[in-house]
Amino acid sequence: MKALDELTFDNRFARLGDAFSTHVLPEPLDEPRLVVASNAAMALLDLDPAVAETPVFAELFSGHKLWAEAQPRAMVYSGHQFGSYNPQLGDGRGLLLGEVYNEAFEHWDLHLKGAGQTPYSRMGDGRAVLRSSIREFLASEALHALGIPSSRALCVIGSSTPVWREKQERGAMVLRLAHSHIRFGHFEYFYYTKKPEQQKELAEHVLSLHFPECMEQPEPYLAMFREIVERNAELIAKWQTYGFCHGVMNTDNMSILGITFDFGPFAFLDDFDAHFICNHSDHEGRYSFSNQVPIGQWNLSALAQALTPFISVEALKEALGLYLPLYQANYLDLMRRRLGLTTAEDDDQKLVERLLQLMQNSAVDYTLFFRRLGDESAALAVARLRDDFVDIAGFDAWAEQYTARVARDSDDNEEQRCERMHAVNPLYILRNYLAQNAITAAESGDYSEVRRLHEVLTRPFEEQPGMEQYAQRPPDWGKHLEISCSS
Ligand code: AMP
Ligand code: MG
Repeated sequence: MKALDELTFDNRFARLGDAFSTHVLPEPLDEPRLVVASNAAMALLDLDPAVAETPVFAELFSGHKLWAEAQPRAMVYSGHQFGSYNPQLGDGRGLLLGEVYNEAFEHWDLHLKGAGQTPYSRMGDGRAVLRSSIREFLASEALHALGIPSSRALCVIGSSTPVWREKQERGAMVLRLAHSHIRFGHFEYFYYTKKPEQQKELAEHVLSLHFPECMEQPEPYLAMFREIVERNAELIAKWQTYGFCHGVMNTDNMSILGITFDFGPFAFLDDFDAHFICNHSDHEGRYSFSNQVPIGQWNLSALAQALTPFISVEALKEALGLYLPLYQANYLDLMRRRLGLTTAEDDDQKLVERLLQLMQNSAVDYTLFFRRLGDESAALAVARLRDDFVDIAGFDAWAEQYTARVARDSDDNEEQRCERMHAVNPLYILRNYLAQNAITAAESGDYSEVRRLHEVLTRPFEEQPGMEQYAQRPPDWGKHLEISCSS
């Protein structure tokens, strides 16, 4: 276990120099206080969880103090936002404080979001509010607990600093951890500004530090791109399987590591709705739940364009062609598991599609349906669940196929099947209304609800006595919360 002043820095991105990032010091928030910290994220840095309660912790992650070895930098990047190219973005309110490595020699970026203005702030104030910082914190840690690759969050520090959004709110900072903060938009920036040398340097950096296994391949850059395609196909299959809607899949919010990254107006589905749009500003539904699949490919082709100096167009196209089949295979595999199936049959895809259609038509709770399906024998479970459906005859027809399919599947007993299903079907999910309750309490200075919710979400598959209220469908007020893009 390490104390806070024992972190070991190795600022590899900062060493790339001023063409890639700008030195900026964080601008402190007034009266910093710990809102919530993640013990699991602390462990990634070998930090003793007790240090989160010390005053210096809140000072370090609110811009008051800095390690001597930290080299805070604002990164430059660009990207496609809602389909249009924006030539200059960059860290407008976040700073890469530095890279530290742990005892296992894993490097982690310490990224402080809400740290004040930078040369890339454009019209923005460089700040993040408590509301959005809590949302990012909870989502990062909840996704990780579900087994969905994500950037991580160490803590949220609140403050008394006023920040204006639609109304006056309070500033906060979230400390984000990731092996890299390089986005598709980093490659796009050097490609469209026609800086081939820097682009090459960036590509070398990413290849050698984040895809070292690709260096052994005959065409290392192509191998790296293929790997990025594969990771994204797997990631988006997991989002679709668990009902996660990102909300702002702009190419500047896509990590080259294939992890969930940059949380804005995200949501987990309550009722199943393929057309759900979680971003209040997304009028055309570009980033609706079901569009995440083709948008994943669109984003990869934007990255492919930026890689044309290194890889032939033919090879890029071929690699892009891997995305959809890989996505489909991953998705079907995960959905089979959610249904408790261990074998594959040709009609499984149809079984899943038919179920989702029925759920869509009856606005059935996406998370609880699968959880309950694994509560008891298939026959008993479907008998209990049929009341949730309007089209009862339709559900009965599905249920008959399903129970027959389960009977053909494996010779393990009911108990084993239920255990298997509970291990992949969460009981607790970060519903918008639960986040909203925690935020409302935190805004009035009570952080106990954020902390409790975070605790519950770290073990989403385990039934936790006394926590039944976190496994409920939303009350009426919490059903269709509009999440503003402002953060
Ligand atoms: P996002 O929608 O959070 O992914 O941000 C898109 C771009 O706007 C990034 O370059 C951000 O750094 C920048 N940005 C967002 N909010 C602010 C803010 N309050 N101040 C400065 N820049 C911001
Ligand atoms: Mg962003």
